[in-house]
Amino acid sequence: MRASEILAPTLREVPAEAEVISHILMLRAGFIRKSASGIYTYLPLANRVIKKVSQIVREEMDRKGGQELILPIMQPAELWQESGRWDVYGDELFRLKDRHGRSFALGPTHEEIITDLVRNEIRSYKQMPMLLYQIQNKYRDERRPRFGLMRGREFIMKDLYSFDRDEAGLDESYNKMFDAYTRVFSRCGLKFRPVEADSGAIGGSSTHEFMVLAESGEAAIVYCTECEYAANVEKAEACSVDTVTPMDMLPMEEVATPNARTIEEVTAMLGVGPENLIKTLIYETEKEEVVALVRGDREVNEIKLLNVLGALHLDLAGSETVQRITGAEVGFAGPVGLKNVTIIADHEVMKMVNAVAGANKTGYHLKNVKPGRDFKPDMEADIRIVQAGEPCPRCNGTLAMARGIEVGQIFKLGTKYSKALGAKFLDENGKEQYIVMGCYGIGITRTVAAAIEQNHDQDGIIWPMSIAPFQVIVVPVSAKSSEQVELAERIYSQLLEAGIEVIIDDRNERPGVKFKDADLIGYPIRVTVGNKAVDEGRVEVRLRKTGDTRDLPVEEVVTYVK
Ligand code: ATP
Ligand code: MG
Ligand code: MG
Ligand code: MG
Repeated sequence: MRASEILAPTLREVPAEAEVISHILMLRAGFIRKSASGIYTYLPLANRVIKKVSQIVREEMDRKGGQELILPIMQPAELWQESGRWDVYGDELFRLKDRHGRSFALGPTHEEIITDLVRNEIRSYKQMPMLLYQIQNKYRDERRPRFGLMRGREFIMKDLYSFDRDEAGLDESYNKMFDAYTRVFSRCGLKFRPVEADSGAIGGSSTHEFMVLAESGEAAIVYCTECEYAANVEKAEACSVDTVTPMDMLPMEEVATPNARTIEEVTAMLGVGPENLIKTLIYETEKEEVVALVRGDREVNEIKLLNVLGALHLDLAGSETVQRITGAEVGFAGPVGLKNVTIIADHEVMKMVNAVAGANKTGYHLKNVKPGRDFKPDMEADIRIVQAGEPCPRCNGTLAMARGIEVGQIFKLGTKYSKALGAKFLDENGKEQYIVMGCYGIGITRTVAAAIEQNHDQDGIIWPMSIAPFQVIVVPVSAKSSEQVELAERIYSQLLEAGIEVIIDDRNERPGVKFKDADLIGYPIRVTVGNKAVDEGRVEVRLRKTGDTRDLPVEEVVTYVK
């Protein structure tokens, strides 16, 4: 490839709309351009990286016996109604109608459609285990698309689904995927950690998230410095409700909205029993950053307040048995015997009224609550919020905190979808059983962004070799020196012939511009062809990562790079 031909428009300025480094650098280095909020064009350089990551993923899925297929992105509403998710999924689901008025969804995930496939095609235990996967666009109408490819509304995901005859089979498939994910992210050259996560609304017994470690990560995790234990946690400070300072009361009607739902509606919507409601809401709020104001009655005995967007999620008006409130940056929850819960206001309303807390007086809230000021730390809280320095629950080690970007997640689904859609098979005894399922996602485009978050410096991106758009750039210092250009062209051809992915900067630009662009785009190796090359037959080979340079005889370049 030639730099004079490739569409890689670099920018000197930092684009105003970009907040995180991967977004800034992908715009500046000419990898992506925005089409609409959360929707991007992947320019040729980005496409090359996406293809690299996809290929690594593909090889590791295939190694475990995965079979690649392509499922429809456009999915009939009927399937989502059968699983119950048409009503539960909420605004994140893109919905559309065809000319006959039939409803469809753009797939945010593909459990329904694949369960529909296997209920027709898998008949016998002999056909399992079966692992089916695809690499394809996903659509989620995220409330806050942001950070470029990190949280898009259209993004590329690998999703694999496992089908087994029993739980033991599922365990095996799950372990295979755990191993495959570990190999994928290692091969991508990333520092990452699998962490235990909450299965929340999806249900199922076990789930891990794969976190790329980066300061900019949205997730807080704890890990043991001695053993393998690691988990996704919510940082939270314990606070006591006893120390509430007097605040304005706000009548319930002022925050109530037409979106109010009764507990029956909420539980039906989410498909969970009241005992799991809080857990599920926590999951939903964290997951989607949807803030629901919930009214609890009576037996709420522990609530953590969360503050994602400056709005508090839980309203406890009327619940006299609330004993503790804990403030937190994100997330909230409680061990719950919740009886009478009503979602009375949604996120938009909450944004307007700021933080609100239960007033322990029916029909009223406290306005403008400040966790920390209004609720003092309560050391005796029996929900322990894990902190750095605490002992590990598994060994004698100590826990430490880190931030991570969720690049993948694996789930044991069990029979949730096979039961809902009636996906059965005949076992050894000719008896009908439900297929036992698992689902496993990797955000391909998010992984590309995460790689940049983890690998960059003030000059630009530093691609790990395995996913770099090109491994080598050859730069003739002066475009006017025909000797330099000729020699550079020769080295370029030799590298090409040796099967190396190489680009030559044949543009008529000053050397400073070429070097800056090469650093910004982040090619792992730069071969500079200057006067010394022409006079002495030696070129400068520079590693982007370390800045180390060495002088090599021209004829050794190919062997060195290989
Ligand atoms: P998040 O918690 O960040 O919203 P998720 O838990 O909703 O992600 P999953 O349903 O587990 O995501 O999807 C599997 C993978 O797809 C995620 O681990 C992530 O890498 C990727 N992914 C999810 N949502 C997005 C998005 N909006 N943009 C880019 N990648 C995404
Ligand atoms: Mg998540
Ligand atoms: Mg999400
Ligand atoms: Mg997830």
